[in-house]
Amino acid sequence: MFVCINTYMIQINKQSITERFIRYVQIDTQSDPHSNTYPTSEKQKDLGRLLVKDLKEIGVLDAEIDDFGYVYAILPSNSEKQNVPVICFCSHIDTAPDCSGTNVKPVLHKNYDGKDIVLPDDTSQVLKADKYPYLRNHIGGDIITASGNTLLGADDKSGVAVIMEAASWLIKNPLVKHGEIKILFTPDEEVGKGTAKIDMEKLGAQFGYTLDGGEAGSVEDETFSADSVKIIIHGVIAHPGYAKGKLVNALKIAGEILHDLPKNKWSPESTEKKEGFVHPVHFDGIAEKATIEFILRDFDLDKLKDHGDKLKHIADEVTSKHSGATMDFTIQEQYRNMKEVLDKHPQVAAYAAEAIKRAGLNVKTESIRGGTDGSRLSYMGLPCPNVFTGMQAIHSKLEWIGVNDMVKSAETIVHLCMIWEEKS
Ligand SMILES: [Zn+2]
Repeated sequence: MFVCINTYMIQINKQSITERFIRYVQIDTQSDPHSNTYPTSEKQKDLGRLLVKDLKEIGVLDAEIDDFGYVYAILPSNSEKQNVPVICFCSHIDTAPDCSGTNVKPVLHKNYDGKDIVLPDDTSQVLKADKYPYLRNHIGGDIITASGNTLLGADDKSGVAVIMEAASWLIKNPLVKHGEIKILFTPDEEVGKGTAKIDMEKLGAQFGYTLDGGEAGSVEDETFSADSVKIIIHGVIAHPGYAKGKLVNALKIAGEILHDLPKNKWSPESTEKKEGFVHPVHFDGIAEKATIEFILRDFDLDKLKDHGDKLKHIADEVTSKHSGATMDFTIQEQYRNMKEVLDKHPQVAAYAAEAIKRAGLNVKTESIRGGTDGSRLSYMGLPCPNVFTGMQAIHSKLEWIGVNDMVKSAETIVHLCMIWEEKS
């Protein structure tokens, strides 16, 4: 048999990936932002257990779910080379709390004709072709939507289906050489706890890829760096009937600080692309004491520090005008731009780009104006860019995905496995 590595025909089974995805999205795995348990909702384990069963069925015998709902699996190396790095592919199994994930009824639209798609269970939910121009890329292909009452859960069950299908393909095609591959499915990503209970030692991978991205061909190697700030204003309290010259109202000082923030810059609503911002997210208090919480975001760490300094300066200035009032300013690190880590291991993103090209797509390198589990994983010792699956309009009732994008995503994973082996 003639096998040319670069052009090896990788034919991911379209029907199988469709069926797999449709099965996974019907399982309610919504995570719970108000829970203090791990996982934050027990029902996420329903999918975790099914994945372990499915992994064993496709021949990944070393698969298990732990008490926190994490699924770990190992695809052994079939390469004679001893030095191929261990690579991990990771997706999250939970869906966002923003939109119901109960009773998801996926609808398969075969041979999409380019017209608006009216969702059957709520006809006011219409996927308009002019509002979602990416639909055009899928004319003639198959599209999957929800039915109108729930989200679809392509975020991130498309990643799960893609990883499963790629693993299945690798097992059925043992002539294709790869090093040891780890699979990791995590709960609670949508509530910011996706990496909280990962056992990095058990995972034992050197580099990773999250499959949690949008348009075909896209790879994200950069996220915001993020801090949070809490400002507490202490006023001076007195009986309001006898407060003349004594009372200093903390609420009013806090209001003044908000008022003194720049009006048309430095905010999420006035920035885009590579611009950072400072964003008040919570305000509460009484006349005696008021608290404002902020999130600070920037791609550049020095600029992030400047945002903190500038905010502190504003708060100091305002407070100092009110004799008797004091202010506490605390800044806390939330997460850091994964690019700082990935730049030290340029092959990780470069191989992803190479794999995308080999799958016949144009590479789109993008920055995320937010964080991902990949940014946390990168700082936990697993440099981890984010690769596309095709998911669109996520966290909404209009969420959809094109089957061809999932197929290309699975192809990209297979190519990645081959490239890491080939270049070792
Ligand atoms: Zn996601």
